[in-house]
Order: sequence, then structure tokens, then C-alpha cells
Amino acid sequence: MDKVSIKAWMEGYDLHLALINSDKRSITGDLNIVLPPGLETDHLELVEISLPAESEKMMHFPVRVSKEAMGKTKPIALDFEWDGKKKSDPINMKAALKWALNDPNVHTAIPGFTTFDQMELDLSVMEDLALTAQELKDLRLETKTGGLYCQQCEQCLPHCKQGLPIPDLMRSYMYAYGYNNLEAAHELVTSFNLPDNPCGNCRDCVVNCAKEFNVQERITDVSRLKNLPVDFFV
Ligand code: SF4
Ligand code: SF4
Repeated sequence: MDKVSIKAWMEGYDLHLALINSDKRSITGDLNIVLPPGLETDHLELVEISLPAESEKMMHFPVRVSKEAMGKTKPIALDFEWDGKKKSDPINMKAALKWALNDPNVHTAIPGFTTFDQMELDLSVMEDLALTAQELKDLRLETKTGGLYCQQCEQCLPHCKQGLPIPDLMRSYMYAYGYNNLEAAHELVTSFNLPDNPCGNCRDCVVNCAKEFNVQERITDVSRLKNLPVDFFV
């Protein structure tokens, strides 16, 4: 099973990366980050990274944005390659779409996309709905980790000591990590009048999520988007 996962986010003009190795052995591989035109940094190239067993490595890269690139959405591509394996996306969207369309109770799927690449990926599903061995493996991984998708059941709402809008915050987390749509995640997080760290006053979280999400961790994570300048996403 795939034991490496990647999280990436922007904070101001810093690119933050977290590489997580959940294997019981150390892993060494190459991190490859490709910035789009208009974005530059002094630090990025192919970087060799060693991850000790069951560890997490955080990295920060200051990014310069040219005048021409200001006010535009700029996707950053990244992948980590080790032992002939490659991890690039937090979720296999093509596999998820195929899985939904393979359900005999589902007649139509309306996937959202914001780029031509995403549109082409979604349309390519029509060529062959059969799940490949790798896609099945990716879906099983998502099942094991609880995945990203909050089912909006609202079971968590009465538990929260601060009355937080947890389903909405989980939706925001899903926009950020599932769809790579930071603009939608930012808009939703800032639509509530929440403190910078909404879970900061709780020592222990008493919320019992139907999907066993660690909601405290996810809320703390996605709430950092609040302080990003809005023109970064537009
Ligand atoms: S840690 Fe966060 S989600 Fe959990 S009870 Fe406290 S405020 Fe609610
Ligand atoms: S219980 Fe879990 S899955 Fe249900 S709405 Fe709350 S966060 Fe989402």
C-alpha cells in the first residue's frame, strides 16, 4: 500500500509542504516542484529527501510573484518519487468519478472543474469506466484513511463545545485538499466570523465524527486560510 502522502498549501507568499511517511521503514526519494510562469523561488529544484520511519517533514519555500502573475490563479505541480513509485495528488479524482458512475443507482455525475486539465481528466472517464488496479488501490487507501469527503450528516454538530459549523469547515477542507480549490475553501472559511484558531480553547475534542475524521486537526489546518490575502486566489 502507498505509505507516503503530501500536503501543500500557501501562507502569504510562502509555499508550505508536509511529506508524511507512515511506513515502518525510512524512505529516500526526489521531490519535484514545478512552478508556473510568473512564480519564482531561489530554493526549488529536484530535492532529495530522506524520511525516517513514521515521520513527517515540513518544508517552507518563499515564492516571488511577478506583476503579470498577480491576481491570477496559478497551479503548482509537485510529486515525490521513491523506489519507482510516485505520489502526486492527495486523491485520485478519476478513480473517484469512475467509482460513482459504476454504481447502478447513479445515472449521472456532474463533476466540477476549474481548469482545462481537470475537464479533460473528467471527460477521459467516458472512454472506459473500468477501474484499473492502481485506481482500486487508491480508492482502498482513501477508505482506510476516512477520505476527504464529509457526508454532511451533521452528526457532529451537537457535540462541539464551541458550536462550530463543522460540516461547512469539513467542506472547506475538502475544497482545499480534494479539489485543490483554495479560492472556494478560503471563501467558505471566511464566511463565518470565527477566531483564527477556532479549536484553540479546547484541550480535547469531544466530537465524534461519523467518518472518524479528526475534526480538530482539520479545522486547525484549514482555518489558516483565513489570513491569506484574497487577491492571491482571484
Ligand atoms: S476541538 Fe474544535 S471541534 Fe472539537 S469540540 Fe473543541 S471547538 Fe469543537
Ligand atoms: S459527523 Fe463527520 S461526516 Fe458527518 S457532517 Fe460531521 S464531519 Fe461531516
